[in-house]
Amino acid sequence: MANLKRKMTVEIDQEYLSCTICLSIFKKPRILPCLHTFCGKCLQDYIDQQPDAYEKKGFSCPVCREFVSIPNPTGGWATQMKVDFRLDAMTDSMKQNKKKVEKNRAEATFQYTINRISTLTKSVASPAYIIRNLPWNIMVMPKLVKGKKSLGFYLQCNTESDSESWSCEARAELKILPQCYGRTAFIRRTVHTYSSQEYDWGFSNFISWDDLLNPAKGYVKDDNVHLEVHVEAEEPQMDQRNLAFYPRLLE
Ligand SMILES: [Zn+2]
Ligand SMILES: [Zn+2]
Repeated sequence: MANLKRKMTVEIDQEYLSCTICLSIFKKPRILPCLHTFCGKCLQDYIDQQPDAYEKKGFSCPVCREFVSIPNPTGGWATQMKVDFRLDAMTDSMKQNKKKVEKNRAEATFQYTINRISTLTKSVASPAYIIRNLPWNIMVMPKLVKGKKSLGFYLQCNTESDSESWSCEARAELKILPQCYGRTAFIRRTVHTYSSQEYDWGFSNFISWDDLLNPAKGYVKDDNVHLEVHVEAEEPQMDQRNLAFYPRLLE
């Protein structure tokens, strides 16, 4: 419920903090005497498109048509309008808020492409994606399972801090995406409680190396493989037992 509320706040803000010219969030907003605000650049582009602006030494507001006279017609006219500091600050705080909500998201899908898969000899990892304020990434490596080469494919949640005791239950879909028409993704699913001790989980034999590289399967194109992971994570748990060693922290 708290999450839903936060999301709604972001959406409403976005509507009120959007420039009516470009329909995006204000960038360096400038305010006209009529109190209508536009991005500085959008306003300047609009002024540049008014054929009679120089003759009239001014232009009409794109929204209410109120005439704005420019006493000094040299240089950029938009920059002669005052910066809308209030909207600028609100836009900033909305962006921060949006980032916070994004990092706290409960699920996400992200992809990772392995180039020159046929020459892969060691482990490689994708950049981290933030879900539930924890960093998640794809990790793959060639593996030998019972004498047969296969692709090891794992989802990692590596906070790089051993001191913190945390755990997070996550369901994941690990996929190899098809690269030719009419084929389907190769999917395996996991459920795991990630923690600082068990921060990676997946399959050492996700798919046999022969199947992976077999052109008829459609997973490889130009020696590239596209991987995708969908993660749904529960609220992370902090280990309360650790706090027992530090009674002062509990007070
Ligand atoms: Zn704009
Ligand atoms: Zn106006």
